[in-house]
Amino acid sequence: MSRIVVVGGGAAGIELSTLLGKAVRKEDEIILVEPETHHYWKPSFMKLPPVPLTVI
Ligand SMILES: Cc1cc2nc3c(=O)[nH]c(=O)nc-3n(C[C@H](O)[C@H](O)[C@H](O)COP(=O)(O)OP(=O)(O)OC[C@H]3O[C@@H](n4cnc5c(N)ncnc54)[C@H](O)[C@@H]3O)c2cc1C
Repeated sequence: MSRIVVVGGGAAGIELSTLLGKAVRKEDEIILVEPETHHYWKPSFMKLPPVPLTVI
């Protein structure tokens, strides 16, 4: 059994953990260490519509 620790559950950490999950054996363990309980997928921010920066 192998244990793989991925530190940081941001864009790279989530992508790596997902790929590793498909590549390793069932008995292997992947641990994702991330202090936050949420993640904004920032590479998709460009798909958001622009908003005015002025506030009334
Ligand atoms: C406003 C904004 C808009 C962006 N828009 C785009 C875009 O349109 N397209 C694009 O390609 N890129 C965009 N980016 C860049 C994008 O954020 C980065 O390319 C990408 O998030 C980098 O991934 P990363 O995994 O290296 O870092 P991050 O996604 O920042 O992840 C790092 C993770 O490590 C965690 N962490 C930090 N310290 C520790 C610790 N000590 N122990 C454990 N975990 C820790 C953090 O909580 C975080 O979850 C944008 C960035 C910002 C800020």
